[in-house]
Amino acid sequence: MTEHHEVLVVGGGPSGAACAYWLAEAGNDVLVVEKKRYPREKTCGDGLTPRSVKQLYDMGLADELAGHHRFDGLRSMAFGRTLELRWPDHPDFPSHGYVVTRKDLDHHVATRAEKAGATVWQESEALTPIVDGATVRGAVIKRKGEGGATVEVTADYVVVADGANSRFGRAIGTSRDRSLPMGLAIRGYYESPRHDEPWIESHLDIRDKSGAVLPGYGWIFPVGDGRINVGVGLLSTSKRWKSVNTSHLMEAFAACAPKSWDIRPETSCGPPTGGKLPMAFSLSPTIGPTHLVIGDAGGAINPFNGEGICYAYETGRMAAEAVSQALATDRSALEAYPKRVREEYELYYKVACAFVKIIGHPILMRSLVSTGMRSRTLMDWVLRIMANLLRPDELGPAEAAYKAIAAIARLAPGPTPGLGAGRQPAA
Ligand SMILES: Cc1cc2nc3c(=O)[nH]c(=O)nc-3n(C[C@H](O)[C@H](O)[C@H](O)COP(=O)(O)OP(=O)(O)OC[C@H]3O[C@@H](n4cnc5c(N)ncnc54)[C@H](O)[C@@H]3O)c2cc1C
Repeated sequence: MTEHHEVLVVGGGPSGAACAYWLAEAGNDVLVVEKKRYPREKTCGDGLTPRSVKQLYDMGLADELAGHHRFDGLRSMAFGRTLELRWPDHPDFPSHGYVVTRKDLDHHVATRAEKAGATVWQESEALTPIVDGATVRGAVIKRKGEGGATVEVTADYVVVADGANSRFGRAIGTSRDRSLPMGLAIRGYYESPRHDEPWIESHLDIRDKSGAVLPGYGWIFPVGDGRINVGVGLLSTSKRWKSVNTSHLMEAFAACAPKSWDIRPETSCGPPTGGKLPMAFSLSPTIGPTHLVIGDAGGAINPFNGEGICYAYETGRMAAEAVSQALATDRSALEAYPKRVREEYELYYKVACAFVKIIGHPILMRSLVSTGMRSRTLMDWVLRIMANLLRPDELGPAEAAYKAIAAIARLAPGPTPGLGAGRQPAA
């Protein structure tokens, strides 16, 4: 069996479903293939910052979000100190976030894309790309839901949105730049009496067996349905990264977390699961003659805080705009996608990469965190920087430091790898 669509999107997570929504909204013929059936679990902290919430509002999902747990800010804890930091007022973003399990969230966005006119095939896995030299023409899809039928789908453009493992992406030639940071994280759900409080909590002083502070954080995110999402995330910039066992780290974090959360083996809702967080656009090339790579498949996660959902939505949206333009004109319009990505993130991610290198040193990590935790004003600014909610019209102490590092980063030679390096020109 064969069929043709203007656009084939491989993967129906945040990046693929958002891309499909914006493509369909612009009147294009788009097919998304998702190997699982919604609603499906995806290992995640489930935390949506104001940046993610804005994208969801833009997709018309305010009513769906209203049924979930809304929060006002971040409670930051380390070295015996606690700071409650509200989301900042920002002209472009709401000043609240949500915690929504991915089981619900990804279903909402895929349903929205379908309502906008996208065709969504669930339980349909892109097995192999159909290629013609460097040009991707489509994919062979196995439709488990349709008795395991195999369909050859050809398309004018293919969007790769198959997540952090990105087997499809690798099959068409993307590869990771190992000099750029990567995260590892693990999470589990617990029943908790504090399941609906209006703060998400982060612990900045997680330690390895020797007691040294690690570059990463532990989190407790209230889900609002009787459960909390508890996890730890770690950066690859630490020399000790390979020797750290995330399951042990999770157990140690759960045992030391404030008792009032009631995190115990008896309240656990199941064994924790983990995953990789490819960061700083570490996967490239981001485009080929007829394809684009978005979300985790392109390594779009923010190295400052491990947030990936909003960057999946944003890169999905940027890719949709470039593909719509290409459909209306010609393939060269795809070039707008890496250009937009560079304009939007290059400098910010360069600074983030410099920052994560610094916190890879335990002494520097410790002194930065303990200095920050002594000043609410400083931590307010740090929150803005880490959640990418800077306001161009304001300057606080941390933002001044950010600007100073950014000025140096701007002078550093070469583009951030992944944001242009090794990119194939559109044919
Ligand atoms: C433990 C952990 C905690 C995290 N916490 C947060 C958080 O709190 N907030 C945040 O913003 N980010 C968080 N992240 C990052 C976030 O989960 C990702 O950045 C985000 O899911 C990326 O979306 P995506 O659409 O690119 O990929 P994915 O969400 O991985 O979606 C890819 C989709 O493609 C499908 N697929 C894969 N291969 C194929 C194929 N061949 N054919 C068809 N379908 C296919 C998969 O089934 C999946 O549905 C966390 C990550 C981890 C591992």
